[in-house]
Amino acid sequence: MGVLEMYSGIFHNHLATAIVGTLFLFLTIGYLGLPYWLWTVLVSGVLLGFGAPIVIIGVYVAISLFFIIKPLRQVTLSVGVMKLFKALNFIPQISETERTALEAGVVWAEAELFSGKPDFKKLMSQPNPQLTPEEQAFIDGPVEQLCQMIDSWKIYRSRKIPDNIMQFIKDKKFLGMIIPKEYGGLGFSNLLHSDVIQKISTRSITASITVMVPNSLGPAELLVHYGTEEQKKKWLPRLADGREMPCFGLTEPQAGSDAGSIVSTGVLFKGDDGKIYVKINWRKRWITLASISSVIGLAFKLRDPENLLGRGEDLGITCALIPSNTKGVVLGKRHDPLTIPFYNCPTEGNDVIVEAAEAIIGGLDNAGKGWGMLMESLGAGRGISLPAQSTGGVKLLTLLASAHSTVRKQFGLSIGKFEGVEEPLARIAGKSYFVEAMRRYTLSALDQGIKPPVVTAMAKYNTTEWYRQAVNDGMDILGGAAISMGPRNAIAEGYIAAPISITVEGANILTRTLMIFGQGALRAHPYAFKEVYALENNDLKAFDRAFWGHIGHISRNLFRAKVLSWTRGWIIFGHGDSVTRRYYQKLAWVSAYFAIMADIAMGILGGKLKFKEKLTGRYADVLSWMYTATAVLHRYESEGKRKEDAAFVHYSMQMAFHNIQKAFEGILANFEGPFIVRWLFRGPVLWFASLNKMGVEPDDELTHEISKLIQEDSEQRQRLTQGIFIPKEKTEALGRYENAFKTIKQSEDIEKKMRKAVRSKILPKKRSKDLIELALEKGVITAEEHKIIKLSEELRWDTIQVDEFTEDEFINATRVRAALEDREVRLDASPETTPMPKEEEEEVQSVH
Ligand SMILES: Cc1cc2nc3c(=O)[nH]c(=O)nc-3n(C[C@H](O)[C@H](O)[C@H](O)COP(=O)(O)OP(=O)(O)OC[C@H]3O[C@@H](n4cnc5c(N)ncnc54)[C@H](O)[C@@H]3O)c2cc1C
Repeated sequence: MGVLEMYSGIFHNHLATAIVGTLFLFLTIGYLGLPYWLWTVLVSGVLLGFGAPIVIIGVYVAISLFFIIKPLRQVTLSVGVMKLFKALNFIPQISETERTALEAGVVWAEAELFSGKPDFKKLMSQPNPQLTPEEQAFIDGPVEQLCQMIDSWKIYRSRKIPDNIMQFIKDKKFLGMIIPKEYGGLGFSNLLHSDVIQKISTRSITASITVMVPNSLGPAELLVHYGTEEQKKKWLPRLADGREMPCFGLTEPQAGSDAGSIVSTGVLFKGDDGKIYVKINWRKRWITLASISSVIGLAFKLRDPENLLGRGEDLGITCALIPSNTKGVVLGKRHDPLTIPFYNCPTEGNDVIVEAAEAIIGGLDNAGKGWGMLMESLGAGRGISLPAQSTGGVKLLTLLASAHSTVRKQFGLSIGKFEGVEEPLARIAGKSYFVEAMRRYTLSALDQGIKPPVVTAMAKYNTTEWYRQAVNDGMDILGGAAISMGPRNAIAEGYIAAPISITVEGANILTRTLMIFGQGALRAHPYAFKEVYALENNDLKAFDRAFWGHIGHISRNLFRAKVLSWTRGWIIFGHGDSVTRRYYQKLAWVSAYFAIMADIAMGILGGKLKFKEKLTGRYADVLSWMYTATAVLHRYESEGKRKEDAAFVHYSMQMAFHNIQKAFEGILANFEGPFIVRWLFRGPVLWFASLNKMGVEPDDELTHEISKLIQEDSEQRQRLTQGIFIPKEKTEALGRYENAFKTIKQSEDIEKKMRKAVRSKILPKKRSKDLIELALEKGVITAEEHKIIKLSEELRWDTIQVDEFTEDEFINATRVRAALEDREVRLDASPETTPMPKEEEEEVQSVH
């Protein structure tokens, strides 16, 4: 009997048809997430169809009514579940500081990804922020000028930003970008703020940090959002034009990541004049700009032993502004942050007394509300400065590594032609597409006034990690040229500084393992936080709504995840074009799978999940890469679906799904819970997941295409690296590389001509130093081409040189002294260009 006949035989059997039909119906209803009452009707119908006794159907319907009729459900089922949850301590204990952090900010795109059924129309319709003409003029004017003025090697070597540059920064109000115009600031958007940091950081990390800090979490940001009108008028205009230099002190020796545990204390007391004062003692460290600050934004725990404010003794963390010249403030020492010479300092305060209403940001009403203020501001800030710095860094590396890969020849070939170099080069160039996508998509939320802390944590964590990976790849590609420090080296400062951005504004390990999923699971989950709230408040009605909503959510996602997994997402229609359609399908599949896996982990591990950081870290990776994929799709759509970017979109999306697959395999292979659960997830579920992969790493063909594209002198290469500072001077590190790269690119066709002439025996095969001259003589190349090829070889020679120092220059004593006295010194070690020595010409030519 043939297979077809066999099947038709089976389907002629009514029972088999009915069973298959019923299963199909249930899967469809489950996948669509239809309400429970419809399930009851259908199940009853099916039972009836299969001839079940009426009594059984009646019992089934009666039981279902307990789930369907809400008041009945509350008093019979929900009340018991609530008691059980409490008895089992099933819901995580949330401390006051955690609660404030959780409540700060709102949810945005991550809630869609968490839902299991993302609304792609909503995700893609988020605006693509644009600069105003005034903001563009600021980038093209003062920012460009500042970058031209900066000599990063001089700053690095002299360990100081020259006074004229500091003054320019203040005069042009770089320190007041976020301060509204009515208070004398520039009142610019988050996009502009990010673009400025991106550009400056590709010139000097020291300068970018100096500009970044006053515009991030600190006095200005806190005053704008929480200050009294009087405080705003007093401080903001002076902060905007640099008459005041701010810093912000939160971190203490005992309180790093666990910033809520600070011990600095302020005590309220009544002065003889009847006013309320606060006496503060602190010991802070790692405070950026502190020793040159004129005002310290300070976080401390406020006590009111005399109950002057009538709110009890312990008021909690409070933020105040302390003029640096107040009696008792100790400043002046510095830390040395990996030799990057921005000001980073310890500070102490010994019995510092200030008037409370004047000093506390927002006045006495805000006494004790500092933690909430900090969490809100920090949450948003994470999405701006560090992602901007990292994006600028990845773009700079894209230019530099691709130029070096072309300019540098070994074994007779540009090293970018070797597969081994193609691999890291593609990793850097591929990142330049998705790091920018994430930067801009996150800014889309912030410029709409939405401050989603989970999204900004993902932006901070991922962009800084990507920069760290890219700079390591860049170092490998540039080899010795990256290691020899000096004015010719445009990569070393970024390499040295990479761990700084990993550590600050929420160190990365903690951000990944505790914040992204830990906060996300409660904050972005449609029901989890509501359940916690309802339980804590003993609110039966709210608990009933949240708990049964959650059960419905789980069953919907279970069906959705199964159906999308079995069909590999192919049943999702209507999104994307030929480049992106498949990725929308996969993203829908991943989201459903993630939602159900998150619920399973929360359901099985409950409050213990918070401490299973190896698991939560992997969940965070899935969420991060889903967010990256969304940002990439948004970039592609909002830039008009450029077909020439297809390779970069494919690379980014394949990277995302590969990493998601890796994270899920890690989750399954290490799943915790009772024996049967562990066996199920670590065994059959993992086995199926590793067969039915969501994605694999970009293949060699794609990485070859990417690395080839980025080694072309094209409009696309410019576009991918837009927004960074490229010196026009051909004697500056990056300017020199770009100039050589462009000239060598022009000469490649000429070289081809010469190779063809060698093959046709017009030119001799033997490599000779006169080959170029001979080519000209024999008319193989024109005089103009001869000029280009000679020039390109000279530039190649000049570009591969590294800095050299005499013993005195190396020890640098005289130069440092001169710089400290602010005398003009030449700190560039090598002459501006290095001419090709005669005897070297032969070697260079021999590669033809
Ligand atoms: C150059 C520089 C500039 C700075 N500028 C300022 C400033 O201007 N103002 C200011 O107030 N502070 C500033 N800081 C402090 C900065 O915010 C802290 O360094 C940061 O909060 C981390 O604290 P820590 O270094 O003590 O690390 P720790 O808290 O000791 O953490 C060490 C490691 O353990 C991890 N870790 C800690 N707890 C957990 C956990 N529960 N789960 C998982 N991992 C965990 C962290 O991720 C980190 O990797 C600066 C720091 C530096 C280095």
